[in-house]
Amino acid sequence: TNASPVLLITGGAGFIGSNFVRVVLETTNATVVNLDLLTYAGNPKSLQDLEASDRYRFVQGNIGDGTLVQSLLREHQPSAVINFAAESHVDRSIDCPDDFIQTNVVGTARLLQQCQAYWESLSQDDQRAFRFLHVSTDEVYGSLGAEGYFTEDSRYEPNSPYSASKAASDHLARAYHETFGLPTVISNCSNNYGPYQFPEKLIPLVTLNAIEGKEIPVYGDGLNIRDWLFVTDHCHALLRVLAGGRPGEVYNIGGDAEQKNIDVVKTICKVVDELCPALPHGPSEQLIRFVKDRPGHDRRYAIDASKIKSELGWSPTVTFEQGIRETVRWYLENGDWLKSTVNDATRSRRGLGGAST
Ligand code: NAD
Repeated sequence: TNASPVLLITGGAGFIGSNFVRVVLETTNATVVNLDLLTYAGNPKSLQDLEASDRYRFVQGNIGDGTLVQSLLREHQPSAVINFAAESHVDRSIDCPDDFIQTNVVGTARLLQQCQAYWESLSQDDQRAFRFLHVSTDEVYGSLGAEGYFTEDSRYEPNSPYSASKAASDHLARAYHETFGLPTVISNCSNNYGPYQFPEKLIPLVTLNAIEGKEIPVYGDGLNIRDWLFVTDHCHALLRVLAGGRPGEVYNIGGDAEQKNIDVVKTICKVVDELCPALPHGPSEQLIRFVKDRPGHDRRYAIDASKIKSELGWSPTVTFEQGIRETVRWYLENGDWLKSTVNDATRSRRGLGGAST
């Protein structure tokens, strides 16, 4: 009966959420309600051009605000809730874990509680069709040695306050399915990169420092390995999980693109030098400085994505080389967006710690 299904997206002003909102508006007929608190990491500029669309509505607010969430659910009657809202930066979780517990654990718990009550008010058909998609990270599985991959059956061994808080939220999403029947689905994804990523994370930070001729701090020996996925590939995977994922299931998402941090940094330097031949500081690689390692720094993450590939027919489409090139180019062309993110909080971090993932 409803021509345009409604998706309630939380954290849609952040990096992955804003890319997801775009992908939804471009590739489906759904209407998006975006609930985002606009912390330092949320940037309304990332979605400014969508404000004219009658399929997009922004609401500033907290996922932990039960009254607000309840009224949004009642008003918009979404067929799915996709939860991106989180504190997401590992270094900040080491300095100050409180916000991570509040948003990632308490906030997710309150959101689930409201979704559960809303879901119970739906007709049986609508209940069957409803999904609560909880977007999570491979960091909940801890760290790998040189061999092996994370599968959906890997043990939870979170090592940072960030990953511990995400692990707790995953368990809550699972429990709402097991205990109350809420059709929750969890996705655990590897490291994302691409446009609209806040410049405290490795790839935008290195890009920016290379362009500006600033030192590029690299944690430890730079040999930590991450499995990189271009953000729009992640968004398409999430659409597959929404459409075909089975309630109560977990889907791992990864790019089959393992890279040592130092190689990521060197690739970015090469691309920046190529795209900006007139930079005054010479080869950008000269800016690399190794700095004291982050405590509890996981050595290697790598995802076995065979379940989502075989069950839902998804696979990544953007190679790391293509994705990095596209990302560096985007940062070069979007100086205004970048300036809008750089406040005192970021400035004090940049160059202090390592470039972190
Ligand atoms: P981000 O930090 O860029 O964005 C988070 C967004 O959530 C921001 O817009 C922020 O304003 C909003 N937010 C924070 N607290 C909120 C609250 N209490 N209520 C409402 N909104 C709130 O993060 P991201 O990199 O886009 O990550 C999104 C999700 O994906 C997170 O849950 C993260 O754990 C997960 N994830 C990220 C990666 C990655 O590589 N970035 C990989 C796998 C999973």
